[in-house]
Amino acid sequence: MEAQLCYACTDQNYARPVTTVKCTICKKEVDWRHVVSHYIDHGKKSGNDVVCPICNSKVKSQQYKHHVRQHFAVKRERSYICGICGRSFISIRSLIVHIMKAHE
Ligand SMILES: [Zn+2]
Ligand SMILES: [Zn+2]
Ligand SMILES: [Zn+2]
Repeated sequence: MEAQLCYACTDQNYARPVTTVKCTICKKEVDWRHVVSHYIDHGKKSGNDVVCPICNSKVKSQQYKHHVRQHFAVKRERSYICGICGRSFISIRSLIVHIMKAHE
């Protein structure tokens, strides 16, 4: 079965028992523990900035990792959902900490 990375989707199919995610850029199956670092590696340096592989915007290199993490944070009415594994958190900060620990 193919697992789709669904960082933009706010409703369906969360908490799926997937362990790999297909990278939307290079189409490789990536272990979900390393998905965020994998995406971070796709960034292209451009002077002091890095071009985000997900939204193509230029981000300062100090902000870049944090910027990529935020692409995996999904806001639901009263909680924040990890776009990779579907766990929910009451604050964006705890979700970002989870993303750093569990997916990088
Ligand atoms: Zn990739
Ligand atoms: Zn981006
Ligand atoms: Zn997660």
